[in-house]
Amino acid sequence: MNWITNYVRPRINSLFSRREVPENLWTKCPECGTMLFHRELADNLQVCTNCGHHLPITPRDRFAALFDNGIFKEVPVPEPITDPLQFRDQKKYPERLKAAQKSTGEKEAMLVAEGEMGRTPIVAAAQDFSFMAGSMGMYVGNAIVAAAERAVQLKRPLVLFSAAGGARMQEGILSLMQMPRTTVAVEMLKEAGLPYIVVLTHPTTGGVTASYAMLGDVQIAEPNALICFAGPRVIEQTIREKLPEGFQRAEYLLDHGMLDRVTKRGDLREELITILRMMMRQPPAVMGELPPPAPGVPAAAEPAKA
Ligand SMILES: [Zn+2]
Repeated sequence: MNWITNYVRPRINSLFSRREVPENLWTKCPECGTMLFHRELADNLQVCTNCGHHLPITPRDRFAALFDNGIFKEVPVPEPITDPLQFRDQKKYPERLKAAQKSTGEKEAMLVAEGEMGRTPIVAAAQDFSFMAGSMGMYVGNAIVAAAERAVQLKRPLVLFSAAGGARMQEGILSLMQMPRTTVAVEMLKEAGLPYIVVLTHPTTGGVTASYAMLGDVQIAEPNALICFAGPRVIEQTIREKLPEGFQRAEYLLDHGMLDRVTKRGDLREELITILRMMMRQPPAVMGELPPPAPGVPAAAEPAKA
């Protein structure tokens, strides 16, 4: 426990153990225990190939899979002031932010992008649970406002992927203020007559469920996602009763009328395209491969198939 072990060694390690060589090529499925090869898992959008359990996926990977040919443009988000309350628990808030930025490679807990999905122009926003539990602070509020403004400006629908432990306590009342702010942002879309689709992913809780995550025109969830305001443990301790099986999970909420759909990650893209095109009164998209060239037109040079 000295300067060398605490400071020098981690710094040296971090220099050499960068992303090029992932330390662990295998991920254990938390549901069925199967060892999954990381590339296979990435190809399957972080869904277990054995039991279908949905593991977390980063906003960037999600967008790459969602947008046509993985092409999207980031929508800029205005920076809020950092650490307005000079908050400190075991660590200072700016230190926590920096650690999260380093581990995720992202600026904050939400990524906003514009692009086309099945040739349908959209704006999308996705929350990153790995960034301080996806907590909603001023930046996330700004991101949702920026996403809604951009959607209105371009007359496009907004698709939002939520994942959050709730409001960011390090920003106190300022994080709670994001609930009315984001609600007003969603209202802007409704006034412009543009669809707002929410895809709830595991877990979406707290102030996020109490605002923008529950205001979609269509509410979709990924299988077995926990969606709640207060979590099951808190409720159980408060009412001192055993809660029913699957309580506050996506399928339970679907059965009880809180959701419209529960959709597997692999089917989401196609389903979103269908729903959005219907809502935007556009003809159905051409799915899958593009139509073959008309007869007589020489096809583009393609490598011969073996
Ligand atoms: Zn599994």
